[in-house]
Amino acid sequence: MTIRLFTHSKEETKALGRKIASFLKPGDVVVLSGDLGAGKTTLTSGVGEGLGVNEEVLSPTFNILKCYFRGRIPFYHIDAYRLEGQHIEIGLDEAIEGDGACFVEWPQFIEPLLPEERLEIEIHNQGENDREFVFTDPTDSYEWIASLEAKQ
Ligand code: ADP
Ligand code: MG
Repeated sequence: MTIRLFTHSKEETKALGRKIASFLKPGDVVVLSGDLGAGKTTLTSGVGEGLGVNEEVLSPTFNILKCYFRGRIPFYHIDAYRLEGQHIEIGLDEAIEGDGACFVEWPQFIEPLLPEERLEIEIHNQGENDREFVFTDPTDSYEWIASLEAKQ
């Protein structure tokens, strides 16, 4: 299934993230693709708000992995940009196969670690404040994406 949604501000993208958060369960893996500045971290920070992680989710680029344990379920945020395919042992596999939900920016750099049952979100920059979100669920494991469309 593929779903297309549009936002017209950073706040609308955060609201979309909060809505996504309400459907997440342990073991979910969401991969985000899109250029620098597309809104991957902004969407993820809305998810953190929705889960109630109790602190702002910021870009983890310099940390690669950030873990938030104070929300409804554990939340793992990976930004693989700086790995560029290198293998370093920092517990990414535990975050991905873990007891919470995991959001991954630049998933192409950790492709071998990612499960088949993942939700893919592609973000396209369509102008200063306009973004298109394309949700693809190749294994039909995230059927709730249909209700994101209905509510917008
Ligand atoms: P990425 O993690 O993909 O590199 P960020 O989320 O860090 O991107 O940055 C997105 C940038 O785009 C922010 O500066 C944000 O204010 C801006 N922006 C403008 N419109 C939107 C929108 N509709 N959704 C998300 N971000 C937006
Ligand atoms: Mg980012």
